[in-house]
Amino acid sequence: MKKTALVTGGAGFIGSHICDYLMERDFRVICIDNLITGSLENIEHIKSGDFIFLNHDITRYIDIKDNIDCIFHLASPASPIDYLQLPIQTLKVGALGTHNILGLAKSKRAKMVLASTSEVYGDPKVHPQTEEYWGNVNPVGPRGVYDEAKRFAEALTMAYHRQQGLDTCIARIFNTYGPRMRKDDGRAIPTFINQCLEGKDITVFGDGSQTRSFCYISDMVEGIYRLINSGYHMPLNLGNPEEMTILELAENIKRLSKSKSNIIFQGLPPDDPVVRRPDITKARNVINWEPEVSFEDGINKTIKYFKEKLN
Ligand code: NAD
Ligand code: UDP
Repeated sequence: MKKTALVTGGAGFIGSHICDYLMERDFRVICIDNLITGSLENIEHIKSGDFIFLNHDITRYIDIKDNIDCIFHLASPASPIDYLQLPIQTLKVGALGTHNILGLAKSKRAKMVLASTSEVYGDPKVHPQTEEYWGNVNPVGPRGVYDEAKRFAEALTMAYHRQQGLDTCIARIFNTYGPRMRKDDGRAIPTFINQCLEGKDITVFGDGSQTRSFCYISDMVEGIYRLINSGYHMPLNLGNPEEMTILELAENIKRLSKSKSNIIFQGLPPDDPVVRRPDITKARNVINWEPEVSFEDGINKTIKYFKEKLN
């Protein structure tokens, strides 16, 4: 008997790669997505009777007759411009959507991994960020809709684990990139790559001294899969600890794409975290995981993807 996995947000960037990973490992996969920020293009290559797509908003009741063994809960707008444009949907999917998914996990006795985020640390005062740090979040700032939705989702997940005995885990995902990001999702990597490929100015916000640490998609998917099978219930950081400034990121992408674009500086959005880097000591110890794909390899693969999309 094949195992059945449910992937919420399965038509999105990370979710679609999780669907691929599970199909390769002989799972039946039920993918739920309302396509609010995802696209059927991300899953149209999966041609199998063991793959089922349901166009459904998970903030509404979810009715699934099949048995489910494990749930990868990724549904949520994720890029800053998406959640700024969809503030109420973002809060609802983190709260009501996560509640529905936990209820489903309970009724099916399925294990569940929540896709949480480094944004729970806000603009961090501890660097690099360890899981013990409680964060520095502005609840009423523009990013609050995402940060607080994820913090609530984490609290709800722990409550179902502690009170109802559910086998849950929480992946605190740091900036992840790769093929199938939307060209126009506003995140730094797809934006800079497409600006470079189209000869447009590269828009660095602020003076570009803020830092991020970027993880390639295949490493992230492997980490999430190991986590759901680990029996570890507390939040776990998943990300690549190689940190760089956003100006360095822009210069690197310009170099690797052999672009002649100019770097220009624009206003820094409110509450943009000044630094971000995961401490992944726990991930190394608990799931024996660390990223393997170098920044150059990952960016080159992503440039190739966007080049093919342009042609
Ligand atoms: P994405 O926007 O590509 O994917 C999210 C998917 O969820 C989309 O397909 C969207 O249509 C779907 N969705 C949103 N609301 C829904 C709803 N109410 N019902 C059903 N489907 C819904 O984003 P992504 O980058 O793939 O992120 C996936 C998850 O990982 C998110 O939960 C995000 O918070 C988390 N995460 C991502 C990153 C990153 O760097 N990519 C970092 C931290 C956390
Ligand atoms: N950024 C930028 N120019 C852009 C898009 C993003 O300078 O065109 C900056 C943004 O201000 C942030 C960093 O790049 O400091 C990473 O932004 P992203 O939206 O990728 O993710 P975040 O880590 O902020 O969620």
